[in-house]
Amino acid sequence: MEFREWFATEQGCLDYVAKLRWPNGFVCPRCQGIKAWTMKRGLYWCHGCNYQVSVTAGTLFNDTHKPLRLWFEAMWHITNQKFGVSALGLQRVLGLGSYHTAWNWLHKLRRAMVRPGRDRLSGVVEVDEIFIGGERPGKRGRGAEGKTLVVVAAQEAQRGIGRIRMCQVVDAAGESLEPAVWEMVEPGSVVRTDGWRGYNGLAELGYDHQVVRKTPDLGANLVPLVNRVASLLKRWWLGTHQGAVGHSHLAYYLDEYTFRFNRRTSRSRGLLFYRLISQAIDLGPVLETDLKGTPETQSAVKKSQE
Ligand SMILES: [Zn+2]
Repeated sequence: MEFREWFATEQGCLDYVAKLRWPNGFVCPRCQGIKAWTMKRGLYWCHGCNYQVSVTAGTLFNDTHKPLRLWFEAMWHITNQKFGVSALGLQRVLGLGSYHTAWNWLHKLRRAMVRPGRDRLSGVVEVDEIFIGGERPGKRGRGAEGKTLVVVAAQEAQRGIGRIRMCQVVDAAGESLEPAVWEMVEPGSVVRTDGWRGYNGLAELGYDHQVVRKTPDLGANLVPLVNRVASLLKRWWLGTHQGAVGHSHLAYYLDEYTFRFNRRTSRSRGLLFYRLISQAIDLGPVLETDLKGTPETQSAVKKSQE
């Protein structure tokens, strides 16, 4: 109710985006001027250089033909669903005519959930790989058919797990694992792994590498924190997506999971919404052609319709 009152009008939503983009007032992206006439539909006309700036230009909402209010509804819905959303669910809630649009929005917003290269984990971090998809455990170093290998980093907290990060990799070779760890964990941190040789180069990258488990078996024998993340992930995966997700889009689902997991103790949905919209503004435009692959297979759509 409160949300609907705040963002009842298109202008209210535009003003909110303007406030997040320019917290200290308008700044012209061309001449850095700070004076502008405000025009209709979120347009600002710079006094200094006559440039017309749309408040949504350069954000995720760049060039949207739909009302911003609808995007706000979408983000509010997404941040209110504890176990994630499907494109079909979003389509229904927003009353969108096309499944394709709902799917596109959802994938764009998933991109905004985790900002790559930022917020690296630090302190004591456990790292291990898990396989997603398929039934039988795969073999390290060789990859397994129909499965995707994902590196999980879990930060140790006073009581259990702090934040997590996840990264899809092509295989478990050092050339794949080292950049993944680099992307997820701040150098100088303690990184705990098992004795798999793919992690041998971590000390050279500036990590305090500790081998907590000698045997490099994969699957049943994960390091403890990652093991817990893996079982929660599996439950979420089967519950929300019925395990039916195209592998080309796995990264975005993992981003969504990570976003929710890292904010699982946050009591305020409003804060979650605020994080999502802030990141959507920072992220910049996402082109439809960037969202590679086809929407979840028609059979998966059908299944959830039945
Ligand atoms: Zn200007």
